[in-house]
Amino acid sequence: MNPSGAAAEVLIVGQGVAGTLLAWECERAGIPFMLAAGAEGAPAMVSRVAAGIINPVTGRRLVKSWRIDTALPVARAAYTALEAAWGVKVWREMRVRRIFQDERERRIGAEKTARGELAPYVVAAESDGLWIEAAARVDLPVLLAAAQEHWTRTGRWRSDTVNILTEAKHYDLVVDCRGLAGALDPVWSTVPWEFSKGETLELAVANLPADVIRNSGHWLLPVAQGAAWCGATHTPGVVEATPTKDARTTLEGSAAQLLEGQRYVVTGHTAGVRVNLPDRHPVAGRHPTVACLGLLNGLGAKGALLAPILARQWINHLTEGVPFDPAVDVARFVTTHRESA
Ligand SMILES: Cc1cc2nc3c(=O)[nH]c(=O)nc-3n(C[C@H](O)[C@H](O)[C@H](O)COP(=O)(O)OP(=O)(O)OC[C@H]3O[C@@H](n4cnc5c(N)ncnc54)[C@H](O)[C@@H]3O)c2cc1C
Repeated sequence: MNPSGAAAEVLIVGQGVAGTLLAWECERAGIPFMLAAGAEGAPAMVSRVAAGIINPVTGRRLVKSWRIDTALPVARAAYTALEAAWGVKVWREMRVRRIFQDERERRIGAEKTARGELAPYVVAAESDGLWIEAAARVDLPVLLAAAQEHWTRTGRWRSDTVNILTEAKHYDLVVDCRGLAGALDPVWSTVPWEFSKGETLELAVANLPADVIRNSGHWLLPVAQGAAWCGATHTPGVVEATPTKDARTTLEGSAAQLLEGQRYVVTGHTAGVRVNLPDRHPVAGRHPTVACLGLLNGLGAKGALLAPILARQWINHLTEGVPFDPAVDVARFVTTHRESA
């Protein structure tokens, strides 16, 4: 038992970005844990198709990402510490060239920068767009592979598709990091999950500056020499991660526009499902009635940014008994549920 008297032996279920960051923080805090990543044929992992972009200013209305001022330094510290420990490169500092889509965006950009609302990430707007500083890209496929390799070697990784209620009989705490599979499990039926399917194209394209993400409705992310990704679509309510012809046509149009006529070839097309909550905050904390069940989910389109601060909240809770931030706590839905009942 640790000082708070909370659970000491933890099973983390799911090894997307949520499970990986939680396991990493448990290891750093000296909390004994096991990681059950889905076996062959387990539900799909959206972290494998995610671009890993961290963008401090997003949306048509150009707003700072939720909790960006605290989440960004925590994310940078976590991923760079991980790089040093495992000898891999996953964190890349980037800038975003945001190109206004219309007159309304141009006006919002001009007004918000004039009021200093987007500082320190944006300092000035130009007539056709603006630069967003302190963005980053987390190479999630590299991170996930390195994590699997590390914890396989240290005997903490199980290739296993598990039932969390069965596992809860054998561990002090089971934290559900199953993404879509967790959201579809009736065990979390008090949580008002929402879903949004997203698709991305992989492109072969020459001579892109390595540290600039172009963004105008969709984004264009250089991922390696001669390769870029273009995405991502948003189709609310869809939980099937199958690439579609319509999304491909839409993204090819965006790629042509973002590349300003430069030639490219489509080399791949991927799809996944984002898990959201109506208030657009993620969700973490203990199950309302089964205290040995925990949750880290609802990362929406911002898993790379949010997984590190949520993992830190879990560690503070486990080691010092710190309550979860009410803005992310599972308990916020229990109240809503009771009120509406
Ligand atoms: C097209 C697209 C582009 C995106 N781009 C970005 C981006 O640029 N930046 C960003 O931050 N986010 C992006 N996202 C969002 C990002 O993908 C998610 O926020 C994040 O990956 C969610 O991670 P997760 O760990 O919660 O879930 P997942 O990555 O889905 O991981 C869940 C894991 O649980 C496993 N699992 C399921 N059931 C079981 C079981 N019973 N037993 C054991 N294991 C199980 C699964 O196999 C999987 O490995 C994008 C999403 C999409 C769809």
